[in-house]
Amino acid sequence: MNEAGRFAALTLEAVERRYGRGDITVEVLNGASLALYAGQSVALIAPSGAGKSTLLHLAGLLERPSGGEVTVAGSPTSTMTDDQRTSLRRSQIGFVYQFHHLLPEFTAVENVMTPQMIAGLNRKEARRRALELLDYLGLAPRASHRPSELSGGEQQRVAIARAVANAPALLLADEPTGNLDPETADRVFTALMALVRATGLSALIATHNPDIAARMDRRLTLRNGLLVEMA
Ligand code: ADP
Repeated sequence: MNEAGRFAALTLEAVERRYGRGDITVEVLNGASLALYAGQSVALIAPSGAGKSTLLHLAGLLERPSGGEVTVAGSPTSTMTDDQRTSLRRSQIGFVYQFHHLLPEFTAVENVMTPQMIAGLNRKEARRRALELLDYLGLAPRASHRPSELSGGEQQRVAIARAVANAPALLLADEPTGNLDPETADRVFTALMALVRATGLSALIATHNPDIAARMDRRLTLRNGLLVEMA
């Protein structure tokens, strides 16, 4: 999809997701649509149980919708095989979670190198890019520290560096600052937004933090299984 010639990192077209529970079917998404363009940041703000995680899982190609189409970086995914979806996910999508999920036995720089090496980059090049990203996020002096030797905010910035290490088109985040104190949350979010602006990355971020939501380009909520733009 195209708006003023801009590249859409993610489009959802009439996406549906139902879960069966015994005789009951729960309709979580009921025709959700969205176009997220390069360099845009979108906050997803909705009460617990509204379907935020479901939406992020569908956008991240971790689950398949019951209906509709999810297009990532220009590639429609509904007819793709699982292998094709995995390959697209690895090259175009980065994830940041509330808890960082860094590998405890690896240093910061090794954690950021890992996805690049899985993608086939050689060790030297992966290390160069990892150090560049850590430096950009203000973590150069921490590159050789293990996660247990880093503060919560530092760990989360390493997780952000890891998520964008493969230069994805799309960053998906589920409460990325939910586990941090307000000042640290603000610092981590500022680093994330600087990265979005510097790289043309698109970010879809589920958050309960109104200050963070206010600093993004758009705010969306989920109402009756539909994505609705907030004022
Ligand atoms: P949120 O992230 O906004 O809290 P979720 O996407 O986790 O919401 O869940 C939305 C609804 O879908 C909830 O009612 C939840 O119970 C239901 N749900 C989520 N995953 C499953 C599943 N695997 N099986 C059945 N119901 C599910």
